[in-house]
Amino acid sequence: MKVAVFSTRSYDRQFLDVANQAANSPHELEYFETKLNEKTASLANGFSCVCIFVNDVANAATLKSLAEQGTKLIALRCAGYNMIDMQAASELGLKIVRVPAYSPYAVAEHAVGLILMLNRKLNKAYNRVRDDNFTLDGLLGFDLHNSTIGVIGTGKIGTIFAQIMQGFGCHLLGYDVYPNEHFSGIAGAKYVDLPELLAKSDIISLHCPLLPSTHHLINRDTIEQMKQGVMLINTSRGQLVDTRAVIDGIKTGQIGYVGLDVYEEEEDLFFQDHSDNVIQDDTFQLLQSFQNVVITAHQAFFTKNALTAIAQTTIDNISSWEQGTELTNEVKLS
Ligand code: NAD
Repeated sequence: MKVAVFSTRSYDRQFLDVANQAANSPHELEYFETKLNEKTASLANGFSCVCIFVNDVANAATLKSLAEQGTKLIALRCAGYNMIDMQAASELGLKIVRVPAYSPYAVAEHAVGLILMLNRKLNKAYNRVRDDNFTLDGLLGFDLHNSTIGVIGTGKIGTIFAQIMQGFGCHLLGYDVYPNEHFSGIAGAKYVDLPELLAKSDIISLHCPLLPSTHHLINRDTIEQMKQGVMLINTSRGQLVDTRAVIDGIKTGQIGYVGLDVYEEEEDLFFQDHSDNVIQDDTFQLLQSFQNVVITAHQAFFTKNALTAIAQTTIDNISSWEQGTELTNEVKLS
């Protein structure tokens, strides 16, 4: 089957080619570096399948163009599907498949990495030693042992994250609209309501999906309810957080540390080299100017293990649709 693969980087080709060549009947993959949006949808003319990633724009207009050009299947190389207008996809008869789980360890471990970076100021320490400055002033950290970690969203990633933090000797508070026994079964973990989690946590880590109900879950009001000097970690989706409210929280000292792998307006920044450009996003520039903020560019998923699994599941999803077998990873309009 002809597949137009958008937002392709060299590593996507590398892993998708391996998985595709191992398939019983390999597909015709055509790679485009550009993102999918209303303007670039015409590139997929005549492709039955379009394969996209987190920052592609599959709104109603884009989906309409794709459907008119003969696309029947949209294969997401990710778990989240907030970039798809599901209502429009359903009306146009487009099937959507995704990769519901690849390596939850990759994302959970990255969240822990951000915590350790901030907690022990490793970013500053690294640069200082490279500068032959071996002083410790300004590098004072705190023990994770005995601190309280608030986990918002205790699904696959949130639970693994909690298990790792349990190993540090932390107390674990969880909040989820659908509590599960995987999280509550962790020694020392308990579910609380959101206000209690906000009020008692030293570190809050977001692991819930982006939905209308979770958009700006972290806002002026919820920040006010947090402990003074709290650490906020977001490896989930940028729009869970009202960035301007976080900036104000940093300025007043209400928020003591911020570790982000995702950013509200990352769509025009992340996965691209802007080192020769003047970044026009003043909010992002201000955010990254703070000493107590660490940002990575949506790389939490980026391990060999995860990319292998993403490529394998994506090719399997496309093959299942082509062969008319059950689409186990279909996303349906709820
Ligand atoms: P999951 O579906 O296993 O878990 C999500 C959990 O959030 C579920 O338990 C669900 O009940 C809960 N939830 C839903 N609405 C909620 C709400 N309003 N408040 C609190 N909890 C709520 O998903 P997962 O595999 O653990 O992934 C979590 C998120 O991580 C994804 O939605 C995605 O946005 C993000 N993610 C980021 C990266 C990255 O590279 N940074 C990679 C993969 C996933």
